Amino acid sequence: MKITFPHLGNVYIAGKAFLEELGHTVIPPPICSNRTLEIGSKYSPETMCLPFKIFIGNYIESIERGADTILITGSCGPCRFGMYSIIQRDILKKLGYDVEIIVLESPREGIENFKRNVGKVLGSNSTIDIIRNIKPALELMKKADNLTQYSNIVRAYAINKREVNRIMDEYYNDAVNLHGTKAMVELIHETRKRLKEVEIDRKYNPIKIGIIGEIYTIIEPFVNLEIERKLGEMGVLVEKSLTPTSWFEHHVYSYPFGSKYENMKLKLAKPYLGTQIGGHGRETIGSAIYYRNLGYDGAIQILPLNCMPEIVAKSVIKNISKDLDFPIMTLVVDEMTGEAGYITRLEAYVDLIKKRREKLLIG
Ligand code: SF4
Repeated sequence: MKITFPHLGNVYIAGKAFLEELGHTVIPPPICSNRTLEIGSKYSPETMCLPFKIFIGNYIESIERGADTILITGSCGPCRFGMYSIIQRDILKKLGYDVEIIVLESPREGIENFKRNVGKVLGSNSTIDIIRNIKPALELMKKADNLTQYSNIVRAYAINKREVNRIMDEYYNDAVNLHGTKAMVELIHETRKRLKEVEIDRKYNPIKIGIIGEIYTIIEPFVNLEIERKLGEMGVLVEKSLTPTSWFEHHVYSYPFGSKYENMKLKLAKPYLGTQIGGHGRETIGSAIYYRNLGYDGAIQILPLNCMPEIVAKSVIKNISKDLDFPIMTLVVDEMTGEAGYITRLEAYVDLIKKRREKLLIG
């Protein structure tokens, strides 16, 4: 099997090492680019949401490199994601690509189905084997996510923010060429050590912003136009409300109860929205309240154009912003999003928060 999977932020770091440990040849797609988006847009239905189009681009770029098996996560949820694997299978078939698609649905959607599909990858569908193999993958994913968040913290305080970018770029480039878990863990440790050595301003009190919204847009830097970096370069400390680790812990590792962190957010969202609306709509609402309670200065909701759950969440967080006096900005991204206008909006939002802070200090 020559396995590939779509890009989901830094998931390829843990995913690649994990699959290599199992003896598979892994062919990750090239880092998402305009070419990926062009290919994806060309072969996807026009009104489909942005992640779908990028996934198609990722698959085709990986197939061009020799991949014959595609691993994706699935869902039968009420938003379009529930149909992704079916439509994508159809598109690839019509284009003449002869590939196997393995869909890893959350165990919530049928434990036997989950075990069968995981078994195809692991070569065994015994529960003990699944747990034994999934644990180290989760650990590595956690380390990779923690490193990304650590770089966000260092960037906010760093005297030279470009130094942080350089270290992280080198890390991402090296990660593609390494093989196996051990090498990846060493690289993560080494990168953390380098980040620790970056000169920082310890007296600086950064503005804190939570990034909330649709999970793919939050975690994939190409799609969110590197929002973490852009805000970090403005001296803002950012935290993402959803990460691959939090998704995995909630939907797979803590099955059937869900993780404490995500359950807490669902509880916070309940007075505003008590039912499942697909995607991470409820989590977006809970995360807005969570960051307000944590003393953050604001939150940015980010979503792809036409994202159904996030459109619902958007209308609800307007009330949260008003009720809790908490500034929340919404950014909608699609293939037409221009970088200059995007940066202007981020700068204006950060300025607004700075002024608000000054006013609160005076008043
Ligand atoms: S959550 Fe939004 S962007 Fe993601 S698949 Fe559903 S509708 Fe599309």
